[in-house]
Amino acid sequence: MHGGRSVARLSGARVARITTIPPMFVSTRIASMSESATLAVGAKVAEARAKGHDVIAFAMGEPDFDTPDNIKRAAINALERGITKYAPTPGEKSARECIARKLTLENGVETSFDQVTVTVGAKHAIYMALQAIIEPGRGDEVLLPTPAWVSYKPLIELAGAKCVEVPGTVANGFRITPNQLAAAITPRTVGIVWNSPSNPCGTAYPVAEVRALCEELARHERIAILSDEIYEKLIYPEVAPGLAHFSPGSHAALAGRTITINGMSKSYAMTGWRVGYMAAPKAMASELIKLQGQMTNSIPSFFYPAIVEALTNSAVGVEAMRVKFAARAALIKRELDAVPGFVTVAPNAAFYAFPDVSAHFGKTTPGGNRITTAQSFADALLHEAHVAVVPGEDFGACARHHIRFSFACAEETIVTGIARIREWVAVLR
Ligand code: PMP
Ligand code: GLU
Repeated sequence: MHGGRSVARLSGARVARITTIPPMFVSTRIASMSESATLAVGAKVAEARAKGHDVIAFAMGEPDFDTPDNIKRAAINALERGITKYAPTPGEKSARECIARKLTLENGVETSFDQVTVTVGAKHAIYMALQAIIEPGRGDEVLLPTPAWVSYKPLIELAGAKCVEVPGTVANGFRITPNQLAAAITPRTVGIVWNSPSNPCGTAYPVAEVRALCEELARHERIAILSDEIYEKLIYPEVAPGLAHFSPGSHAALAGRTITINGMSKSYAMTGWRVGYMAAPKAMASELIKLQGQMTNSIPSFFYPAIVEALTNSAVGVEAMRVKFAARAALIKRELDAVPGFVTVAPNAAFYAFPDVSAHFGKTTPGGNRITTAQSFADALLHEAHVAVVPGEDFGACARHHIRFSFACAEETIVTGIARIREWVAVLR
């Protein structure tokens, strides 16, 4: 037993001395870090299901589809061929070349293989990139357009910078403007974390608006751009005609200071594989690879052929998933609009909807719980109606009135789950 008085028993004999073991030291930077709100709700869902509750989960941002067979086969074949040894830290050359080609041709981000490193999910890439651009103790600031994914702020702070939120609003579809960006930049700004399409907003910026923001960033030479493009392939022109992806690393003035981050989790339904990647200007890439060499080394070596297979031979499978997500985006918007008091920006990318539910703050639930925050709304919804959503608080100060739905689930689940919410909301008083 740690951290308290303990009476040890050895083979049934009472040990005379009572010892007090001091609690193990935990650094302030870890102790003060919040846990991942998305993963926390995932754990609550598992707990409620283990107790036998029929939970409808809109919690984790994880495709319900299985990894396409051709991608699985590539990894299985590699294992069978005995590819089981350490690989070079940034990955096998063929996979890095393939990623470099993809970035160059699809995204206009001119990349050679030695600028690429394959990481343990995009999360690992984001962690390393932030460690590399931030100098602790210098007063560095990193800009974060919000609402933004829950892990950015803790990782910015862990690396030693202040996270400066640049808030979007429901009225402008959660998108920030060049004026807002300009106003947030100070002599201490060292970077911006950019994420379009966005988790949790479920929206992508139109190309012209990203370009306008890039023009503003072009004026500030010391600002590094970390562009997390993990939802790049999940954009729905069916919902927002003409919508397309734009990579800041393709902007001539920013190419030399942009780190482009992406991964296999979302587009290829490979969350559990833990495969991400990033590309950086050469000098930065070698620093990132140095850090990775001390941290994790390579990902599992038999995954590299699967990456090549995914990037070169899976367009049809990815498009089939995208089309399904597009239909769900339209469906969840219709269903959420039918819930009294919910105000929802139409999702047009990724697989999230992020309604404002503050019309219900101040009410009491059938179970006698008072709703005062998104967290209390989400908790009561889970306990009383057995529907799981992620409360908005950890997505940024401007997200406190919102709850996040992941619609990476069957259409039937969307309809049934939101019907449950509608019934529950109707009896709030
Ligand atoms: N970026 C964003 C915006 C995300 O939503 C996620 C969630 N998985 C990640 C990065 C991390 O993805 P992974 O580590 O699975 O590649
Ligand atoms: N990114 C996903 C989400 O937001 C998976 C969980 C996580 O890594 O945060 O739900």
